[in-house]
Amino acid sequence: MDLEAYFSQLSPEEQMLQFGRKNPDPLALAFDRKRVVHAGMKGKMIPPPLAQGVWQKTLQGAPQGRPTQMAYFHIPFCKTKCLYCGFFQNGTSQEAEDRYVDLLIRELEQDAAQPRLQAAPIQAVFIGGGTPTSLAPENARKLLSAIHRCLPLSNDCELTLEGRIHDLVPEKMEVWFAEGVNRMSLGVQSFDTKVRQQVGRIDDQDAVLEKLRALSAWNQCAVVIDLMYGLPDQTLEVWKKDVELLVQSGVDGADLYQLDVFDKSDLALSIQKGRLSPAATTRQQTALFAWGKGYLDAQGWKRLSFCHWARNNRERSLYNTLARSGAQLFPFGCGAGGHVDGVSTMLHRALPMYERMVSAGQKPLMFLQQESPYARIADRIQAQLNQCRLDLEDLARMDSRLSGLQWLGDLWEEYGLWKHNGYLYHLTEAGQFWEVNMTQTVLECVELLLEGAEKGKVAEARVAEQG
Ligand code: SF4
Repeated sequence: MDLEAYFSQLSPEEQMLQFGRKNPDPLALAFDRKRVVHAGMKGKMIPPPLAQGVWQKTLQGAPQGRPTQMAYFHIPFCKTKCLYCGFFQNGTSQEAEDRYVDLLIRELEQDAAQPRLQAAPIQAVFIGGGTPTSLAPENARKLLSAIHRCLPLSNDCELTLEGRIHDLVPEKMEVWFAEGVNRMSLGVQSFDTKVRQQVGRIDDQDAVLEKLRALSAWNQCAVVIDLMYGLPDQTLEVWKKDVELLVQSGVDGADLYQLDVFDKSDLALSIQKGRLSPAATTRQQTALFAWGKGYLDAQGWKRLSFCHWARNNRERSLYNTLARSGAQLFPFGCGAGGHVDGVSTMLHRALPMYERMVSAGQKPLMFLQQESPYARIADRIQAQLNQCRLDLEDLARMDSRLSGLQWLGDLWEEYGLWKHNGYLYHLTEAGQFWEVNMTQTVLECVELLLEGAEKGKVAEARVAEQG
């Protein structure tokens, strides 16, 4: 079925969900709400009894060509739970942390002993969570030195440690930089004391700015912060101050990302019970996005993706860029995900199961699946849209059936979501705001063109997104 025929059989509500609408103000009204991008295209689940053997065989194999590869380490502990968070796993406990770091190193040593991991340099390592900066200095030292000892890191490897401003204390920073951390990614969310503290961040504005200054004074790494827009009481005036302080803080890069209020989250409950003001609506968020984007552009910051800016060349955002382009990703830790040579996995998120399996010498696989044969096409689409563009001719060269996407190219040019420059489509400001929706829809259209997915897909997507 071609896309036009598919579109015409959808109800108006389904057309709106997947394709948006034509409107004089596409930034505010092209879609009703943000969608969720489901990672890539569906693969085939490997039966659990076979999964360990398939993983081991993968690690004993040889790579095809010269792969770009990375490693991800997950630290599943946080000192406190932020109200808006959908990823919290465990509170901090010194005893649990000590045990976990030893097991994480054991998991790393087990995989690193296999030939596949040593077959090509690792270009980026990301230690994420949770709150990796919450690790005690001795545990951070043990983990970082094991990463250097076990992995074939390239000379220009980007080594990112993610965490909280609150942990920027001299005894920790000394260890991180002695052990090779060259990029820090920190959640600030808002500099405004009331706005940040009422959603669970710990420090006030002065402490945040002072700690960022202290971190920059080490001059050992790129410093990158996250700012969120749409938090309760974060008016346009507060947001303007947030972005101005971001520029004044001297950090090397920043993400500006939209608050999602997850149903049944602590934040949603606090708002329902009147303890917090409502979060911004999607329409209000568009104004915040447009102002932040305009201000950073005017200040000469470089756009590295639809939501990430760099002030200078020290910030490369290598891991994030490669992660969206299908680079091989070796996962380690409770709740980590990754994919290597055509199989993808998610590791167990529950600590007891993780501990049991690693102690028994197994990879703590929650599931393992054979990637879709079209996974590389999905990677290409995500990588390009992440950079605010899409080259339909490039996709048609990968598979001629994808020339059917031209219908979507024309539709969204009419809707004001992207514009063709004679070579490829560039997202407009509206398209940049709605990038997540567009990515998910393009992936669904590709699946339809290549695999003949049926109308049921839309209903499935709607249930998943509203659930
Ligand atoms: S520190 Fe990060 S992972 Fe932990 S609760 Fe806050 S937002 Fe969630």
